[in-house]
Amino acid sequence: QEYYEELIQSKKHDGIRVNYKGDHGKGVCANKDFAEGDLILKDQILVGAQHSLNKIDCVVCSYCFRFIGSVEFQIGHRLYFQSIASSIGCSSERHCHGSDVGSSTCSSGVTKEKSTTLPEEVIESLITGDVSLPFSDHFPLPEIIACQGCEEERYCSQSCADSDWESYHSLLCAGPNTEPPRRSALHKFVEHANETNDIFLVAAKAITFTMLRYKKLKRQNDFQNKSAESNFSLLMEAWKPLSMGFKKRWWDYVALPEDVDASDEDSFRQEIRDLAFTSLQLLKDAIFDAECAPCILFGSHKTWFKLSYHE
Ligand SMILES: [Zn+2]
Ligand SMILES: [Zn+2]
Repeated sequence: QEYYEELIQSKKHDGIRVNYKGDHGKGVCANKDFAEGDLILKDQILVGAQHSLNKIDCVVCSYCFRFIGSVEFQIGHRLYFQSIASSIGCSSERHCHGSDVGSSTCSSGVTKEKSTTLPEEVIESLITGDVSLPFSDHFPLPEIIACQGCEEERYCSQSCADSDWESYHSLLCAGPNTEPPRRSALHKFVEHANETNDIFLVAAKAITFTMLRYKKLKRQNDFQNKSAESNFSLLMEAWKPLSMGFKKRWWDYVALPEDVDASDEDSFRQEIRDLAFTSLQLLKDAIFDAECAPCILFGSHKTWFKLSYHE
């Protein structure tokens, strides 16, 4: 409760409050009438990631998720991946969002209609910006800023790049500047997530968010010479924003996919639980920090897996 009041106050909006009702949990209520177009609350998302398969369709800022580059770049990028997909004979497969976990069922939701492939040069000049399409200047997009470490993450602005680095990416960047052991451990972790369930990538962000927030709080604390706060309570504080959304463990909570029979529910839940532990172990190999160990422990019980159900 305090947490929400602080959040609402810090944003200087007094139009809403968070209420608790015994049976129904939390709810947001209005304190006054709103007019159309009023800003009610604006806040930064805690953790989020673009779905791996969606990366084929469009290029967005890794921090705020707005489209970046240019209309030509977006179209060129998509056509490029489509042409790769059709050249290896794979109908442009779409991940079926409903079914989680390992089951890499591809429902080809996208029609593979008349694959009119454009000549390579055309696609290339779309990507490089040598060609401009009519009216695209009416829809300018921010220029792409790549992560200076790995160049894999792309942003709409330096401030998004800096914020992402500060909140998550400094621990997850697998670029050439990262020490080789950690880099290869990160690669293994990402590979496992891509093969099983990319929710683990979001979960990794939740963990690094907590670890980095903890370190920041600790620095502030050391600076103010307050030794009273124990490391553990700082860690709890760092974890607080995420804890607000916690309901149940992921493997207990996630909806049963349609292709799993109800009688197999137990083994299904056990299976995704094992996946989650493997994934956590891989992440630990990459970013373990003894001081934050309780965080990883919590992770295994709470944050780590609760997130996925938002997917
Ligand atoms: Zn951005
Ligand atoms: Zn990077």
